[in-house]
Amino acid sequence: MWLKFLIFAGLGYMVYKALAGPGPEKNRPRMDRQDVRQIDDVMVQDPVCKVYFPKREGVAAKVDGQLMYFCSEECMKKYLNQK
Ligand SMILES: [Zn+2]
Repeated sequence: MWLKFLIFAGLGYMVYKALAGPGPEKNRPRMDRQDVRQIDDVMVQDPVCKVYFPKREGVAAKVDGQLMYFCSEECMKKYLNQK
């Protein structure tokens, strides 16, 4: 269980890094602002508590080969325990 958690934490960090992008926000071209916002602020629904939250602030977990997002580690664990 602890090893599983480490894998999920690492996965979440990788997703966060990928979404955060290479540079600071202010260096991004102004024309792309809308696209950047869509990527940064895309809202996803937690399958456990049905709350909507920004993807990059959620916890990512790979379930059956599919990347799922949860509002918190508690919800992630609940979801995994349900399965
Ligand atoms: Zn939740």
